[in-house]
Amino acid sequence: MVDMSLVVEPAEMKFLVETLGAIGEQAGGGIIRHVYDQAWIAARRQVADWLRDAGLQVREDAVGNLFGRLEGERRRTILTGSHIDTVRLGGRYDGALGVLSALAAVRLLKQRLGTPLRSLEVVALCEEEDSRFHCNFWGTRGILGLIDEGELDTLRDEHGTSIGKAMAEVGLPPERFREARRDDLDAFVELHIEQGRILFDEGLPLGIVDTITGLYRFKVTVEGRTDHAGTTPMDLRRDALQAAAHIAMEMTRIVEHAGRPAVITNGWWDVQPGAWNIVPGLVQFSVDLRHPDESTKQRLAAEVRERGEATAAEHGVSVAYEVVGDVLPKDMDANVRAELAAAASACNVNWIPMVSGAGHDSQV
Ligand SMILES: [Zn+2]
Repeated sequence: MVDMSLVVEPAEMKFLVETLGAIGEQAGGGIIRHVYDQAWIAARRQVADWLRDAGLQVREDAVGNLFGRLEGERRRTILTGSHIDTVRLGGRYDGALGVLSALAAVRLLKQRLGTPLRSLEVVALCEEEDSRFHCNFWGTRGILGLIDEGELDTLRDEHGTSIGKAMAEVGLPPERFREARRDDLDAFVELHIEQGRILFDEGLPLGIVDTITGLYRFKVTVEGRTDHAGTTPMDLRRDALQAAAHIAMEMTRIVEHAGRPAVITNGWWDVQPGAWNIVPGLVQFSVDLRHPDESTKQRLAAEVRERGEATAAEHGVSVAYEVVGDVLPKDMDANVRAELAAAASACNVNWIPMVSGAGHDSQV
């Protein structure tokens, strides 16, 4: 039996999502809420008001994470929430839904059940997305003591502003970043919208993530020869784009053959010199390869690299790789997963185990 007194009203969630979603919303649709900018400050102020209204102890830490705490009989804490920064022109749900559902749930638990055994804390984490600074999981890394002091100066946004300066501008003295570190956390639970279409296509409401996928990223540089597009016969060309396209297709074929959940994407391309009447001499493109099993990920990475070299040789061009990211997959805690599964079953919610193909704060 579902205890109806512990069900959050859909209308309430709709109100929270729409109110927060209006902050940073752009005229043509989409939200821009980057860490330490005006929309981010306004969003945090709104969430802080809601947390305070819910009777939670509100505080921010040294890097800008926002917390609402319900003190339990014990000091040890279960943290729940997500991020409120967005990608450029992001949606209303990414990150925000995790923060708002945590707020609604802890508020209801406090009203109905009073003081918990372990302390519960709602968190709005800062800079998960890597959209203003290239510093994924900044807030979470602050909590875990994984920020390197040098990053305060080396991490810069597109205007050259360092993250340390951006912090100072919103009243967070950057030199105090170490104070964000905590040692009282027992668990972190993060609800997140599906950023794919597995649940959507199958009409399922919930997935419980057992692993957050691993990631291998590299840049491919293919060098052929620039030639005149009119005077150079096809059989005399060393067209870098044609070779690069074949390399990308071969890599894709290998990963398609491996099947789910392996994925590969070539989302960024640069073609030089980039003219209608010149055979391309130099092409660069990105490879983003993901798999939740580390050994499979490494095997696929080796295979696509080898196949790329062989394809380049067949086309008479040279190929070079620059690895820019190699992130291990991360298994989620088995006890927390079991608790979530039991809770879902108790509420008669249909769920499936899932791999998260996207990165999240939970993996840090
Ligand atoms: Zn997210």
